[in-house]
Amino acid sequence: MYPFTYERAHSVEAAANALAGEADAKLLAGGQTLLPAMKLRLNAPSKLIDLGKLGDLKGVQVTAEAVSVGAMTPHATVAADAEVAKAIPGLSERPS
Ligand SMILES: Cc1cc2nc3c(=O)[nH]c(=O)nc-3n(C[C@H](O)[C@H](O)[C@H](O)COP(=O)(O)OP(=O)(O)OC[C@H]3O[C@@H](n4cnc5c(N)ncnc54)[C@H](O)[C@@H]3O)c2cc1C
Repeated sequence: MYPFTYERAHSVEAAANALAGEADAKLLAGGQTLLPAMKLRLNAPSKLIDLGKLGDLKGVQVTAEAVSVGAMTPHATVAADAEVAKAIPGLSERPS
């Protein structure tokens, strides 16, 4: 990995400001793609802005018109949601 600074965002607004304030900053969600790419030196953000504690980005909402999934909602939460299972069964099927 190349050197980088780390910042944990405490609000969506703070994350957006931190991202706007540094051209090579990157948002960190689960890190499943970004961290391996950084380890392979395929990606070199100057700053990581961690979204992990942003409850505002978590959650599932199901209405008659739409299923809304927050950007930080884990796959497992979506798969376990009974309303999602009714609305879009394929989203609750766990890979065998
Ligand atoms: C073991 C393993 C198995 C996998 N299997 C599959 C598979 O079967 N099918 C498949 O499609 N994928 C698969 N993947 C890839 C996986 O889907 C992605 O790694 C995962 O979705 C990345 O999400 P993340 O939250 O970890 O993102 P991160 O690695 O944190 O971020 C990925 C990118 O998105 C940006 N980003 C993150 N959050 C936001 C946001 N809120 N707004 C804007 N940009 C954002 C980051 O800056 C980064 O550039 C697998 C990965 C692993 C490690």
